[in-house]
Amino acid sequence: MNKPAEQFKVRKIPSIGDIKTRAQVWWASDSRYMAISMTGHALILLIIAFIPMANPELLKQEAPAFEAKVDQAVVEPSFEQFELGEPPLDPTELSTESLTIMEPVAMEAQTEEINNDNPVFETRGGGASADSKSMSIGGFGGFDIDAIGSGPAVRGGGGTGAGFGSGGPGAGGFGGSGFGGRGEGMRKAMLASGGGTAQTEKAVQGGLVWFSRHQNPDGSWSLNKHYCKDRVCTCGGEGDLQQNAAATAFALLPFLAANQTHESEGPFKLTVDRGLGYLVKNQKPTGDLSAGGAQVMYTHGLAAIAMCEAFGLTKDKRLLGPAQLAINFIQNAQDKETGGWWYSPGQKGGDTSVFGWQLMALKSAQMSGLTVNPATLAGAQKWLKSVSKGQKGGLFSYTPASGATPTMSSVGLLATQYLGAQRNDPRVIEGMNYFLTQMPNPKARNCYYWYYATQVMHNLPGPEWDRWNREMRRVLIESQVKDGCAVGSWDPNQPTPDPHGKTGGRVMVTAIATLTLEVYYRYLPLYQLDPEATASK
Ligand SMILES: [Zn+2]
Repeated sequence: MNKPAEQFKVRKIPSIGDIKTRAQVWWASDSRYMAISMTGHALILLIIAFIPMANPELLKQEAPAFEAKVDQAVVEPSFEQFELGEPPLDPTELSTESLTIMEPVAMEAQTEEINNDNPVFETRGGGASADSKSMSIGGFGGFDIDAIGSGPAVRGGGGTGAGFGSGGPGAGGFGGSGFGGRGEGMRKAMLASGGGTAQTEKAVQGGLVWFSRHQNPDGSWSLNKHYCKDRVCTCGGEGDLQQNAAATAFALLPFLAANQTHESEGPFKLTVDRGLGYLVKNQKPTGDLSAGGAQVMYTHGLAAIAMCEAFGLTKDKRLLGPAQLAINFIQNAQDKETGGWWYSPGQKGGDTSVFGWQLMALKSAQMSGLTVNPATLAGAQKWLKSVSKGQKGGLFSYTPASGATPTMSSVGLLATQYLGAQRNDPRVIEGMNYFLTQMPNPKARNCYYWYYATQVMHNLPGPEWDRWNREMRRVLIESQVKDGCAVGSWDPNQPTPDPHGKTGGRVMVTAIATLTLEVYYRYLPLYQLDPEATASK
């Protein structure tokens, strides 16, 4: 397979159900095994043809199509074929055509722009103008998605049914915020108006390339060991936890946030395809996506977010069943008495950390048009109330009996926002002011807190967000690894240890840091009206 280097062409990667490519692959490889595989595929296609599309139970049976795709790892093109003929002209002009996924991305020292601590509030948060040339980076240009929900800039102020109308009385629905920010044109505008810069995008690309280079041969990722495709991995910084489904979900989320799916004509198409394939292949009939590892609900919540987002972005019918089943599993696993979730499904009690991932999954499900039971959301309100602390109820604790912490307050306040709190809600104001006393600080790393608090603050455009964002992006960009096998990742132990690094290691810390820098377009801010959407009304 030592073919000469070829220009990277994503369209050459076999897509799901691409019979022509499969035939080429079969011709070029061991026909005996592939003939069996082809027969299997034909059978699967026949089965698919007779499955009513709306039945999740039946759709689950389509999972083998993903399995078959994963099995194609043996005929994955050699690395040489993925290398670039020409390096990018300019690192800020990386695009589908110019981005290599097999060479570590070159990370450079940051310019003054990122260190802009100008105390004067700028509406753009120190980001560049949407129409300036420097913001035409597009990162992964050329993609578009249909905005999900009721319009191209779908959002509501929270509250019952603003977006999807499934909030019951007293339960509060989610706001109608959608994935609309991830489309190409929208992302550029969101990136700029939200305070992103060319360098935040460069950092995101660095993270994605690191994940792509460190995917296991079976399509998964691991928290506790790193496999590198192009060299003997010297990254280090593994976590303690053996939980490949959690690692896979962590790794997939930053791709999906950048609108890199298994269907997009992007450089990470196969990476995402095989990661999703791993999760679907290991899903249990109950909907459980934890693949049998420890901390079932924690892992499942993460994987459910990835599944719902992948379905929401692509509307790939093969993901409908697995995604809805995953949501059903969350609903069944809730402790109906407390409204919380804990490590095992149905376990009594709960904690706000596990709760947060389940709620994020429910929100992603609603944005994707999946069915969410209003009673589950009413239960979630109950849990939030039980862990609400502070003078106005805007701080939150791990369990009802414990005291408020910055991390749990960030999880709880984001959940509060999702469940319909208005911008001027006293809880939101109290929480926001608290976070401003706990700014991102490289000497007190806490990726988990930064991730949730950044989302809370991003929902509140204004001087406070501007101040938070400047610190957050500077701390994250400056601490990103700039060379070696680990280039583009975040070291869980350097420059100072992250409290979550011991368990989740480099994969978790890198995923959360990358997602934090994708905040500008991952979701639309809950409380900011889009001028264009308003004007067109
Ligand atoms: Zn490595």
